[in-house]
Amino acid sequence: MRTVPSHMAPSQVGQACTGVWILGDQLHLQQAALVSLAALPPPQIPVILIESSRWAEGRNYHQQKLVLVWSAMRHFAQELRNLGYPVTYVESEGFTEPLQAWACQYQLEQIRLMQPADFPFRAEVEKLASQLPCPIVQLENNHFLWRGEEFINWAKGRKRLLMEDFYREGRQRWQVLMEGDKPLGGRWNYDKENRKPPKAGIRYPAPLHFPPDALTQAVIKKVKQCYGHHFGALEGFGWAVTRAQALQVLQHFIEVRLPHFGPWQDAMQSGEDFLYHSLLSPYLNLGLLTPQEVIAAAEAAYSKGGIPIASVEGFIRQILGWREYMRGLYEYQMPMGYSQHNFFGHTRPLPDFFWTTDTDLNCLRQTLKQIHRHGYAHHIQRLMILSNFALISGIQPQAVEAWFHDVFIDSYDWVMQTNVLGMGLFADGGLLASKPYAASAQYIHKMSDYCRNCRYNHSEKVGEQACPFNTFYWDFLLRHRSCLASSGRMGLVLAHLNRMQPELITQIRAQAAAWWERLCPTAGQENPSLSQTIR
Ligand SMILES: Cc1cc2nc3c(=O)[nH]c(=O)nc-3n(C[C@H](O)[C@H](O)[C@H](O)COP(=O)(O)OP(=O)(O)OC[C@H]3O[C@@H](n4cnc5c(N)ncnc54)[C@H](O)[C@@H]3O)c2cc1C
Ligand code: SF4
Repeated sequence: MRTVPSHMAPSQVGQACTGVWILGDQLHLQQAALVSLAALPPPQIPVILIESSRWAEGRNYHQQKLVLVWSAMRHFAQELRNLGYPVTYVESEGFTEPLQAWACQYQLEQIRLMQPADFPFRAEVEKLASQLPCPIVQLENNHFLWRGEEFINWAKGRKRLLMEDFYREGRQRWQVLMEGDKPLGGRWNYDKENRKPPKAGIRYPAPLHFPPDALTQAVIKKVKQCYGHHFGALEGFGWAVTRAQALQVLQHFIEVRLPHFGPWQDAMQSGEDFLYHSLLSPYLNLGLLTPQEVIAAAEAAYSKGGIPIASVEGFIRQILGWREYMRGLYEYQMPMGYSQHNFFGHTRPLPDFFWTTDTDLNCLRQTLKQIHRHGYAHHIQRLMILSNFALISGIQPQAVEAWFHDVFIDSYDWVMQTNVLGMGLFADGGLLASKPYAASAQYIHKMSDYCRNCRYNHSEKVGEQACPFNTFYWDFLLRHRSCLASSGRMGLVLAHLNRMQPELITQIRAQAAAWWERLCPTAGQENPSLSQTIR
């Protein structure tokens, strides 16, 4: 099997009797494998899409995620048929048998596949390739702005892989929000303007909702029947399942939500599941939208006027900055064992309530119930509620990553490993973040209304009313004081520990252990094995 650059002309890799295998997150007409055969008329290009039950059973995927991916695949197959492609759509257990049958049916000399974004699936393709009657030629994945190799070249030889440096280089490279070599508006970064706490009385716009058509209803029926035991609610499914619908979501975001995106992007409010967020990650990650067009739409809207630079820059930073950076790091680091990192040596299992949503910590309860409803929580809920809790209470990073991968509508290995292990849990020891995103209840109190309706007191560290986030936070600092001291950015907070009375330290430690027993009564203290992750 070989990988060729996506810009290589078809004649250079041979085009007779060539079929295209399209994966569930490659649903774009301009994806590399289809584009590589653009010189041929569609009727001469057999295409296959495979709906694999083994993939669905491999994890406790949110039911809406299964519906989204399969419905989007079925709609894309329909779109290809309408364009004249001979499409084979198979529901099967695995991938090998349908590929064998299809290759024989069309007497294929070659199968083209855009390189899977996820390393585990790349390994699966390697394995099955030897069982096929013709070779698989992989085309470089073109769903990202930076090619994997380009990121690695950028990263090599740098002391620190700072997102800010990477983002600025991206702005210059693609001339996004630039005036010559200067940032538009005179500044690269508007984060300070973009961190407002929630404000009472704001009416947030409802997201677009797409009633399931016949194709989606058929998938809903299948998921109910076969995967009804999986996590998450199925009722109310309203995600976009076609490119046309995804473009409507983009348009709606640009017109209605983007003008207010910046200031409220870190805020959390009970009963408001989406605030001004774009909800575009499921579509970007499936290939229904491209990062280029999303960035261009935001920039064009800014040029027309009426949208503050802080909102536009804050949004473009997410896509051109964070999204590309996370994927680049994944390409760079995964071959070096990134997924196994556990810097703090945390071994606790995931508490049961991550699945049941039954907890009296209000911030966690609100966030978990929201994920159960939609498979969605916004960035700060993921970072400062969910992974913050996992980090300070000492849960094993791989168990946390597996849970995130299961329950989110937009999760894939390429985006999960670096976000959860690196950004959320500091399990990579600071390769990605310059200090752990560990926080006490003070942050949650400032940025949400959750603490107001909680049975715990956000300002107490110990005692029956004390917020467990506080107790775990200080216990975390005490437990890892020596390794945190090497990070200059932790100096101020660690200085608090020097002034802390020994009795208080003893109380915090005892109470953190007691909280853990109470929150996770069935699991015991240690769980070095991923297989014991509670489902
Ligand atoms: C612990 C943790 C787990 C996460 N898991 C995922 C995941 O499984 N899938 C996923 O797409 N994103 C993930 N993210 C990143 C981010 O939280 C989501 O992309 C975002 O919340 C999706 O909602 P939105 O489309 O409304 O985003 P917005 O807030 O509207 O942001 C716009 C877009 O920016 C991109 N983006 C922003 N931050 C990131 C990031 N750190 N990594 C990648 N893309 C980013 C997304 O494509 C998103 O659609 C995770 C972040 C953390 C901290
Ligand atoms: S008091 Fe603590 S547990 Fe309750 S909502 Fe606030 S941070 Fe969460």
